[in-house]
Amino acid sequence: METEYGLFVGGKWTTPAHAGRFQTTNPATRETVASFVSATADEVARATSEAAKAFSAWRDTPAPKRGEILLNAASIMKRRKAELGRIVTREMGKVIAEGLGDVQESIDFIEYMAGEGRRLFGETVPSELRSKFCLTVRQPKGVVACITPWNFPTAIPNWKIAAALITGNTIVFKPASNTAQCAAEVVKVYEEAGVPPGVLNLVTGSGAVVGHALVSDPRVRTVSFTGGVEAGRDVYVRGAAGLKMVHLELGGKNPVILMEDADLKLALDGVLFGAFGTAGQRCTATSRLIVHEKVYDAFLGMLTERLGSFTVGDPLDPATGMGPVASADQERKILDYIALGRKEAKLRLGGEKLTGGAYDRGYFLAPTIFETPHGTRISKEEIFGPVLSVLKVRDYDEAVRVANDIDYGLSSSIYTRDVNRAFRAIHDLEAGITYVNAPTIGAEVQLPFGGVKNTGNGGREAGSAAIEEFSEIKTVFVDFSSRLQKAQIDAESVA
Ligand code: NAP
Repeated sequence: METEYGLFVGGKWTTPAHAGRFQTTNPATRETVASFVSATADEVARATSEAAKAFSAWRDTPAPKRGEILLNAASIMKRRKAELGRIVTREMGKVIAEGLGDVQESIDFIEYMAGEGRRLFGETVPSELRSKFCLTVRQPKGVVACITPWNFPTAIPNWKIAAALITGNTIVFKPASNTAQCAAEVVKVYEEAGVPPGVLNLVTGSGAVVGHALVSDPRVRTVSFTGGVEAGRDVYVRGAAGLKMVHLELGGKNPVILMEDADLKLALDGVLFGAFGTAGQRCTATSRLIVHEKVYDAFLGMLTERLGSFTVGDPLDPATGMGPVASADQERKILDYIALGRKEAKLRLGGEKLTGGAYDRGYFLAPTIFETPHGTRISKEEIFGPVLSVLKVRDYDEAVRVANDIDYGLSSSIYTRDVNRAFRAIHDLEAGITYVNAPTIGAEVQLPFGGVKNTGNGGREAGSAAIEEFSEIKTVFVDFSSRLQKAQIDAESVA
């Protein structure tokens, strides 16, 4: 029998009487994984009320105490890592090593944020006046909404939840509908860890109902959203009406530049992992390979040969290189792009749905490579699947021009042995992240994460930036002169 989950509101798992439900599906087998409540706008409002009620006590809980609860959550996650990794793989389809990696990233970030409970640094700044002390302190924002995608179904929720909790906020969490079991199990971890009732609430249901209600609720002061550009724009506009802080982490079309002096074997491993890891469904996936003409034929030969022995199949089998794509919708969208690519570019490898045997039960696609001139849609739009566009360039300047001529700016990479050129690329590439001699994927939680252009609206997640995202800065002036001192007017001159 399938597992049934309720909503988690005010510290209780509840199933409302009306309880329309939806199911999640294993993309490797199309079997139902679990079932969830399709919440209404009223249930969102109830969750927001509970979060608002819980705020005052949580904000007054000393930050190191909040950190202890996060450490509990990290150790519960460690204890449950194997089980949670399998849940990720069953519900989302990434191979088991990556399912476990998703959970490990959650653990790493929760531990990192727990340490912030003893930092949450402000600044002390000199005053222009005597006997006056100036400093800043961090305060929580209040009720925050966390809306997350399915591709990192435990890690991205934890990036938001752990950072929001340590800074003293209360949360209404709306996960991607595709991976609601991963989300519910994450919430259970925090429940067991001792997060008080109302501090973290889970409301499942569609973006159109739950997402809209949440973003429009006047009690929600900050919305932290990760997903696609279209939904992100909608969230931004709705949030703007309430003058909310809306933090957006959106798509990417990330280039690897391969120069003629690169270590080609190293680059081969990197490009394979970057392009086909998670079946290309990472926001930082390597979706464009920009290759110097002198090594173009050789490298493409190496790439296609290696992909000949690449295994696509059961994501729970540790020997599998790539699992299915995450859903029927994903498969349809990617196949549409492949059909377009066949018209506007040259198909070099793959380009089809895999069929026969176990493939017929799931959403399995062949790793696909197109050779394309710059400017085609497949080389400029986010496909979010195992499809790599390869572009030939004459020199470094052309490579950077091509790399930058897109609407996104999340991750980027250059393979070169020339240290000067590596530093030029760090300067020249229009992206939030640049890797040197490594692929476009591989974020570490203690560093800020995010991008420029349509990848977001200027914020960053993770690292120290996570604290910025979820806290307000209060500026404090303490005048201990016992008289009225006027800034700018009473300031002493040195002349
Ligand atoms: P999505 O369709 O934009 O959905 C993301 C989340 O928003 C889901 O929870 C979704 O709910 C909800 N939602 C959809 N429309 C909404 C609306 N109008 N108002 C409020 N909420 C709404 O994205 P996805 O397909 O899950 O994820 C893939 C995208 O995420 C890609 O573009 C990828 O690049 C991006 N991404 C970016 C980052 C980053 O850090 N930059 C990281 C990972 C992924 P439902 O599931 O119920 O539709």
